Amino acid sequence: MDYVENILGTIGNTPMVKLNKLTADLPCLVLSKYETFNPGNSVKDRMALTMIEDAEADGRLKPGGTIIEGTSGNTGMGLALAAIVKGYKCIFVISDKQSKEKMDILRAVGAEVVVCPTDVEPDDPRSYYSVSKRLGEETPNSWYVNQYDNPSNAKAHYESTGPEIWKQTDGKITHFVVGVGTGGTISGVGKYLKEQNPNVKIWGIDTYGSVFKKYHETGIFDEKEIYPYVTEGIGEDILPENVDFSIIDGFTKVTDKDAAIYTQKLAKEEGMFLGNSAGAAIKGLLQLKEHFTKDDVVVVLFHDHGSRYVGKMFNNEWMEKMGYVE
Ligand code: PMP
Repeated sequence: MDYVENILGTIGNTPMVKLNKLTADLPCLVLSKYETFNPGNSVKDRMALTMIEDAEADGRLKPGGTIIEGTSGNTGMGLALAAIVKGYKCIFVISDKQSKEKMDILRAVGAEVVVCPTDVEPDDPRSYYSVSKRLGEETPNSWYVNQYDNPSNAKAHYESTGPEIWKQTDGKITHFVVGVGTGGTISGVGKYLKEQNPNVKIWGIDTYGSVFKKYHETGIFDEKEIYPYVTEGIGEDILPENVDFSIIDGFTKVTDKDAAIYTQKLAKEEGMFLGNSAGAAIKGLLQLKEHFTKDDVVVVLFHDHGSRYVGKMFNNEWMEKMGYVE
């Protein structure tokens, strides 16, 4: 018989899928690391499991404990799946900018969801950073995950996502392109790939309204870069410890409108029904065209599934209301 012990055994070993129509004008081979094949439909299942296992190993998470996290949804799903299998409770703090689908999905897998306002400073007591921290301090037998600064986040990608990409490209990868939020994906994968071949270029995709690109280029944390934006999953108004700026070669920023339009294009032109950060990632990759030559093998990572965005980027009324389509 061929089976795994429980659903957690299906995490990782995701396919690599070639892009065709959207990348027709590029000289190189473009492959996507297709992370929606994870059981929670996102790459985050990987780091959620690693963070839990590392916390169990050193006693931060104890039997019957409560897992607390500020999560935009995907990390919550990964944590919730592992919590069900391993017997923990979950409380997730989520910003009101996130889609209703994401909140409903978290409740569907047994989590308690607390919603916080987006447009307040990170150190405001109402912010989702502050609320999740406070709940962590107040709830007995609880563990506050903190995916932003938790080193097990990048470690998961160093140990699984990076080696899979290296193996699936036969070591021929020349560029890795990926959206950056907590930084776990880019830092873990980027570190592994650069250890195999220091010439591999690592590109981060950022949003307008986020601090990453300017900080990488100037070393300045510029508050003028911070303003509300629509794109989900990437960009930050803080510098998470998981972003290892030293392994990143450059950032390119993608507008909210382009990210939304390219999320639709991936579905309609490639049959890839993916989340908003995938649209940003492929548009960012196209913006980098001049960096690629004929023999290059460019890998882009697609973080999550389109089902979480049916009320937004896949809803034409919403697209019109935002002024993204006529
Ligand atoms: N895309 C989506 C949909 C996400 O949920 C996240 C995580 N915030 C990212 C991209 C960014 O990944 P990372 O946190 O590893 O930088």
